[in-house]
Amino acid sequence: MINASPFPQLVVPDTLAAGPGPGNTDHRVLQAYTGAGIADHMHPDVLRGMIECKHMLRTFMGTQNIYTFGVAGTGWSGLDCMMSAVMPGDTVVAFSNGTFSGIDALTLRIKAATRAELAEDSLDPKPASVTVIEVPHGCSVTAEIVESALAEHKPKWAFMAHWETGSGRINDIQGFSDACVRHDSMGLVDAVSSLGVEDFAIDDYPGVVGWASCPQKGLLCLPLTYAPVSFSDRYIETLRANGAYTYANHPIMEARHWGIVDNQDVEKGAYHRTHSAYAVSAFHEALRINLAEGLSRRAQDYAFHEQALREAVSAMGCEVTSNMTSLVVLNLPPSLAGREMELVQNCRADGFGIWPTLSAPVQVRIGILNLLSQSAITEIVTRFAQAMTNLGADLDINTILAGLNDHYQSRIAA
Ligand SMILES: *Cc1c(COP(=O)(O)O)cnc(C)c1O
Repeated sequence: MINASPFPQLVVPDTLAAGPGPGNTDHRVLQAYTGAGIADHMHPDVLRGMIECKHMLRTFMGTQNIYTFGVAGTGWSGLDCMMSAVMPGDTVVAFSNGTFSGIDALTLRIKAATRAELAEDSLDPKPASVTVIEVPHGCSVTAEIVESALAEHKPKWAFMAHWETGSGRINDIQGFSDACVRHDSMGLVDAVSSLGVEDFAIDDYPGVVGWASCPQKGLLCLPLTYAPVSFSDRYIETLRANGAYTYANHPIMEARHWGIVDNQDVEKGAYHRTHSAYAVSAFHEALRINLAEGLSRRAQDYAFHEQALREAVSAMGCEVTSNMTSLVVLNLPPSLAGREMELVQNCRADGFGIWPTLSAPVQVRIGILNLLSQSAITEIVTRFAQAMTNLGADLDINTILAGLNDHYQSRIAA
């Protein structure tokens, strides 16, 4: 045959996605994705869907910000959009305490660099106007750290990750917002890991002018959809006054397709890019699911199931160093220290999708996105115990599972 592909059809296996992300996409989201008809990006129902998504997003994020919408792509697409108002020479203080806030800080260094600074080291520029405060892996960014850096530098922009997924640490968003207000800095926040997992409303943090999240974590909408973003009026004014070096991810321009024009909701979106009816339908369904369950219920469920997993791995002798409620980051017991990567690779080879940390030190990360049931946590605990046993750990799995069962019985009793 002529023109035959040299490759057979791609088959991707199902795994137990127990990592920091992507989460297990809800089957209703996948159904919405494959169930959408072939409709173009200006079809009335697609445009209506986008407007409804916009309204649901405002509720989901807890905001009155008009400029609240989805950026096509992944978390970094939303973050790139959010950081697009940062211009060469702008002063920035960024707090970095792990892999992701480290990449955020790199993005800010790229955007704030002058041409000469960029040319000097284009893949890792070190602009004079950007200060990166490095907080050690495993530690949180505290109010005191933010206050002292903003008091010293009084930057135009300040940046923090709300939840740093690299090390599983929650940073002090209240302290960050307060310090931004005190020092008149415009706060930008990476809320990729916290949105949809913690019960919070972004309008409670007036020091933060820009927020960006992602489709694939708390929102449970991996099939390449939309990264939620939200911008205050002050951000939009600043952006309008100075511009941004992008068309595709320009917050004011991108918002037009979501029916946001000149700081107002309009009835119908205007062309910005070719949106997919599949993606819009999936995003719409994911938002419906999240809102139906309610953020506070969801947040309580995450905390309860994370506690169950944390206690079980602690009973296996592991040391948990994280405090996020969607993710447990741990060190193996002393007898297995240094074998974290080997254990993770064994699990992954077996369809049990846990993760190592992506920057030093090597730790194990086990996530529970959309795995909020006793049976799912029991499967994770059982498979993890088996993997440790295979490496030579001496575990009494029955005792561990009995402890886990007690945790679940306590809720039924309560
Ligand atoms: C996952 C993550 C990102 C990157 O999101 P992508 O969807 O991979 O683009 C950025 N920041 C944080 C805090 C994350 O957890």
